Amino acid sequence: MEREITGEDKGWWVVSQQNKIWLPGDKLPYGPAAEFSLSGLSGRPIGEWQGDTVWLINHSRSQNMASLRQLLNEDSGLFRMAGRGVQLAEFYRSHRYCGYCGGEMQHSKTEFACLCTRCHERYYPQIAPCIIVVIRRDDKLLLAQHVRHRNGIYTALAGFAEVGETLEQTVTREVMEESSIRIKNLRYIASQPWPFPQSLMMAFLADYDSGDICIDPEELLDAGWYRYDELPALPPAGTIARRLIEDTVALCRSEYQ
Ligand SMILES: [Zn+2]
Repeated sequence: MEREITGEDKGWWVVSQQNKIWLPGDKLPYGPAAEFSLSGLSGRPIGEWQGDTVWLINHSRSQNMASLRQLLNEDSGLFRMAGRGVQLAEFYRSHRYCGYCGGEMQHSKTEFACLCTRCHERYYPQIAPCIIVVIRRDDKLLLAQHVRHRNGIYTALAGFAEVGETLEQTVTREVMEESSIRIKNLRYIASQPWPFPQSLMMAFLADYDSGDICIDPEELLDAGWYRYDELPALPPAGTIARRLIEDTVALCRSEYQ
């Protein structure tokens, strides 16, 4: 639970406000609180990383407030802890009053939740489930340039689950909407919390079934079939999209090389 940080407290320090994180020297601060002048601020433990406590301090510093994306190349466990901190900071900031009765909220002492002091409604951080899928057609992958990434990279198709939808339905619908392709043989691969802002990416592989690519110009700039050994610019390492593409390339290579 939240308490005043003393000079003896030590561990990893997630100092975050408004989706920014404090990264002095481009690193997540690690060590005793006194070393970073954090004593006296209010903080809470939010987990452990490599045997040390990870602390969240909901606070902004005058310099070195950066995007969490700068930690994408760090160990994935550390990135997830920092992502948890940034998202919790935003959750607490956006839940100061109850949406039902307007009463003041207090932070739960036992879980990541806010409780209304008047009507006792309980609120949890919202996580948006999002699918990402690579479609394989023999020795080729379907990759697309998304309207929302203006950086020239080609990546997998992706989209958010809608209310009342299974993930399988989300994948089929998103692929049809964005590319007009029918898929088959859908398999779940892995997941990655993606705190930009609060998604949980669930990665799938699928095989091409039928149809010709016809893109939705609201979502995609371009899409095409790329041979596994002639790929365009890809998303960076550390993203689940990159892993999904590399897994598919390995499958193609084992069959076609
Ligand atoms: Zn209430």
